[in-house]
Amino acid sequence: MKTFAVLQLSGCAGCEVSLLNSKAWIQQYRLLYLPLVSSTYEVPEVEVLLVSGGVRNDEDLYNLQRAVRRAGRVVAVGTCAISGGVPSLGDRAEVREMFIAEERRRHVPHLLPQCRPIDTAVAVDLYLPGCPPTPELLMGALTGPEAFQASRLVCQECGRKKLKDMRPKRLLGFQQGEVLPDICLINQGFLCVGSSTRGGCRAPCPRAGHPCVGCRGPTNALIDQQSAVWFTLIQRVFDTLTDIPREEIEAGLRSPQYALFLFQFADYFGPVHVEGGGKPRPKEKVL
Ligand code: SF4
Ligand code: SF4
Repeated sequence: MKTFAVLQLSGCAGCEVSLLNSKAWIQQYRLLYLPLVSSTYEVPEVEVLLVSGGVRNDEDLYNLQRAVRRAGRVVAVGTCAISGGVPSLGDRAEVREMFIAEERRRHVPHLLPQCRPIDTAVAVDLYLPGCPPTPELLMGALTGPEAFQASRLVCQECGRKKLKDMRPKRLLGFQQGEVLPDICLINQGFLCVGSSTRGGCRAPCPRAGHPCVGCRGPTNALIDQQSAVWFTLIQRVFDTLTDIPREEIEAGLRSPQYALFLFQFADYFGPVHVEGGGKPRPKEKVL
């Protein structure tokens, strides 16, 4: 039986919960390390190392570099490991100031100047975007991307129909109004970004009536593009299907519900703002 471990750096543990929601791997893989489930002092030698969370402090960096030396294959799992995610909000000056006071306490790991994606510290074999990735995607990362079949876009997995003659004039709030079944959420005035977002999750959000916020990151066509290209593309989709003013769409895309995930659309181009960054992520390594 193949072996794997999950190394958790600074993150929310959502990726681990998603993994535990799947039973598919139990017959094929032996889990040797996962904090709170099966942990020893250090990560043992494994065939696959799944890493969740960003490199936020010196303890994260130490644990990551140590674990990678014993791993056959390294997978960066989820938004935090790939782009910083929630822990990178601590890069904002006002949050950082709060934590600098804490740094004076003893026995607390020291914050690094910025939250870093794991590939700025170690080599990564596979990127698995999602917040969190679905159990099926996690299984795909374990077995290897060759066996995993996915559509290009979330829209192709959603099943809702885009209509030319249902043109909303205003944007609805994130969870406002009644959602009609089968019809594209954009036609109903919701800010859904499934047309730019990488497929593979099987579109659980729009299928359930919630707009896709782009947690799977950019499609292959957008990975090596600057965020302005993505912005133009999404505006074009809204111009085709709605009469909503462009400023309203732009303000919506910059709102907190979307900004957390959408910043990673620019980040795949290469996280230029962090030390060790600046290299575009290779498409063939993204599941
Ligand atoms: S834009 Fe959203 S709701 Fe419309 S088809 Fe795409 S994923 Fe589905
Ligand atoms: S539908 Fe969008 S927001 Fe939902 S899981 Fe898929 S990529 Fe993430």
